[in-house]
Amino acid sequence: MRLPHHASRLDIPKHRGTGAALAAAPVPRCFSWVPRLPAPQTISLKWPPLVVAGLTGGIASGKTTVSRMFADLGAVILNADAEGHAVVEPGEPALAEIVAAFGPGFVLPDGRLNRRALGDRVFGSPADLKTLNRLTHPRIKERLCSKLRKLARESAPATVVVVEAAILIEAGWTDAVDKIVVVAAQPSTQVARLMAGLRLTPSQAEARVQAQLPLRQRLRHADYRIDGEAALPETREQVSAVWDDLLRLARRQAGPGSPGARQLAPGISRRKHGG
Ligand code: ATP
Repeated sequence: MRLPHHASRLDIPKHRGTGAALAAAPVPRCFSWVPRLPAPQTISLKWPPLVVAGLTGGIASGKTTVSRMFADLGAVILNADAEGHAVVEPGEPALAEIVAAFGPGFVLPDGRLNRRALGDRVFGSPADLKTLNRLTHPRIKERLCSKLRKLARESAPATVVVVEAAILIEAGWTDAVDKIVVVAAQPSTQVARLMAGLRLTPSQAEARVQAQLPLRQRLRHADYRIDGEAALPETREQVSAVWDDLLRLARRQAGPGSPGARQLAPGISRRKHGG
C-alpha cells in the first residue's frame, strides 16, 4: 500500500529521529495531519502503570483547548500553571523567597503575590526571569511529580495522564514524561489571539511570542504535533488520533485484558487525519 507522502517520513520511532524529522519538516501554515507512529513498542514508563504525555506549545497556541479534548476522551489532566499558582500561595516558601529577591512591593494587601507586577518586572529582564524560574520551577516540578506518584499508586492500569505545561521543554521537565505532544500555531496566529484575548498591542503580543522557544525547536522534542489553528473539529480528530496511540501504548504496557483500558475513540481513521 502506498503511504501518504508524509507518512514515510514521519513513521519513524522517536529514538531514530522522529523529533528531528518533525522539526526539519517545513512548518506549513496549517497542519492537517498528525504523525502516525508505528504500533507502540513496550517502553520503560516513567510512572508505571501510567502513560504520561507532556502537552506543550507556545503562548495562545491552543494548549488548553487541546487539553480539554484529551479530558473529554478520558485523560487525567495535570496543569503546570495551576501548580505554578499553588507554589506562590501565602505561606509557601517560594513566596518568601520571591519577596526576599524582589522586595515586598510585589505582595498585594491580602498577602498574595502580585503576579502582574512581577510579570512586568521579569519580562524583558532575563536575569530577573532566571531568578524567578529558579525559585519556582523546581517546586512546580516537584508538585507535578508528587501528583504523578500518587496517581501511579492509585490508578488502574492503562491510565493516560496529560501534563499541560507551557514550559515543559524550557524547564527541562521532559524527563518526567513518556511522550511529548506539541500544539503548533504560527506566531501570527498567536499574536492575533493575544491581541484579541488579552487586549495587547501588536508589539506587546509579538514580544511575548518572540520571548518563547521557537516552534521549530519545540518540534524537535515532539512525538506528536497537533494543529492548534485548524478548525476545531479537525483539531479534535487529531487529538483523538494521538489519544488512540497513547491508549494503545498504555494497553500494551498493561497487558491484555487490563481492567483500566478504555476503548479507542470512536469513528477515528487510523491513517491520515483531515487530509
Ligand atoms: P495560554 O498560553 O495563554 O495558556 P493556550 O495555549 O492554552 O494559551 P488556548 O487558551 O487553548 O491556548 O487558546 C487560545 C485562544 O485561541 C482561545 O481564545 C481559544 O478559543 C482559541 N483557539 C484555540 N484553539 C483554536 C483552534 N483550533 N481554532 C480556533 N481558535 C482556537
